[in-house]
Amino acid sequence: MSEAEAKQIERMKSLLATQRDAFRHERHRPIDLRKADLARIADLCRKNSDAICEAISRDFGNRARQESVIAEIAFVIQDADHTAKHIGKWAKTRSVGVPMTLMPGKATIRREPKGVVGIVSPWNYPFQLAMAPLVAALGAGCRAMIKPSELTPATAELMKRLIGEAFEEDHVCVITGGPAVGEAFSRLKFDHLFYTGSTQVGRLVAMAAAENLVPVTLELGGKSPAIVTPGYPKLSAAKSIGWGKFLNAGQTCVAPDYVMVPNGEERAMGEAIIKIAEHEFPESSSDDAYTAIVSDRHYERLTGMIEEARAGGAEILQAEHDAQAAQAARKIPPTVILNPPADSKVMTEEIFGPLLPVVGYSEIDAATNYVADHDHPLALYVYSTDKEMATRILDQSQSGGVGINTNLLHLSVPDLPFGGIGASGQGSYHGEAGFLTFTHERSVFATGKWHPSRLLAPPYGKFYETVSKKQMS
Ligand code: NAD
Repeated sequence: MSEAEAKQIERMKSLLATQRDAFRHERHRPIDLRKADLARIADLCRKNSDAICEAISRDFGNRARQESVIAEIAFVIQDADHTAKHIGKWAKTRSVGVPMTLMPGKATIRREPKGVVGIVSPWNYPFQLAMAPLVAALGAGCRAMIKPSELTPATAELMKRLIGEAFEEDHVCVITGGPAVGEAFSRLKFDHLFYTGSTQVGRLVAMAAAENLVPVTLELGGKSPAIVTPGYPKLSAAKSIGWGKFLNAGQTCVAPDYVMVPNGEERAMGEAIIKIAEHEFPESSSDDAYTAIVSDRHYERLTGMIEEARAGGAEILQAEHDAQAAQAARKIPPTVILNPPADSKVMTEEIFGPLLPVVGYSEIDAATNYVADHDHPLALYVYSTDKEMATRILDQSQSGGVGINTNLLHLSVPDLPFGGIGASGQGSYHGEAGFLTFTHERSVFATGKWHPSRLLAPPYGKFYETVSKKQMS
């Protein structure tokens, strides 16, 4: 561990104590102040959009401004605005019914902030995936510490500065550093830990949090399939899947990871996807609209996957590109892999890059069974004009979320909870789901000075007999 990292670890311990102390003095942040917090986030996004886009692009080697605006900055602004608009309603104390045997009395649920929360974020959407959980935490009235990914240091430093300008350290702060800092961060006794990243590290985070019984949300990855049903218009499917796959060069947790088409249609689908990619990114190797791979390690991992699939007999289709320029820019052109071996890395590991296996299925049940036989994906995409068939596919499978005749966009609907299931994660956020993630629902049952339940105490008499008989009937 470097000296700087050791310093960060000491700093975060003392910041946690400071935030906890501040929370004790303001356990119920008034809704108006929370709205002002959210407005500050939206404002920070609007005023610094150029700097945010530049930092992200520097971290990736190249990321189109348009992608960063839509998928990071505008997303956070909308999330903050939506939360500010609805928190008054979400935070209201709710009354629930009281059984006859417990009357008279009043039962209510107070929606209270959990306290000081930790947010660990990944590199692929380095701004959005730190700020959207922060929006939910602030909406819930919590204080937050953020630990961004070390793979996107320019964005992390910029967030640290912008958050430092907009918030007091005892309210929101950013801790920078690598896995050692992340590891120490996940051992802190937060009131909630929100982690987005790989399944492998998510497991470590969950174990570290368990030591302190810290509740965790895990937003993980996985292999999200796209199933194209027989008769669905090929071009329409190719356009949609190609867009979702090659946005951010496939470095998107809910990008379609592989496509399943009826046997015999693999090549036609693969060629259609490549044609669309060539139209969207005519010069993928030098096109500013096409994102680079974030690091040399990931570049080598992805080129290794292609070579392994090729050696295993799969046919590789790639968008036209200048190989030397692409390598120099750390870009991998849009790539389709036709029917790779079942045990190849592209079919067994999350791809997280612009490689798209297209595999054939004999009948729709075989495709659904394939999905059901593997870890539950973060998203499942179904392309079908037959509503009954689409419903059957959903009935026979499980996934974090679903897109029908579309992909990625379900996560932009603010009132849809976003999260995984099983290996793709636990818990969810966005909209009210995010508010509830950082909220403790505190049950309160209030009676008058005297309540008939006192008659239930020993020595047992007639009242006890009547009540217990009613309860047992
Ligand atoms: P990662 O797990 O390598 O890193 C994520 C964060 O964890 C980083 O901040 C890192 O510093 C920190 N970290 C590393 N080791 C740690 C440890 N031992 N203890 C605590 N923290 C540690 O993930 P990544 O490579 O940055 O992100 C890619 C993965 O994230 C993919 O699998 C992708 O599918 C997933 N992802 C999921 C979502 C979602 O919303 N479900 C969104 C984006 C990415």
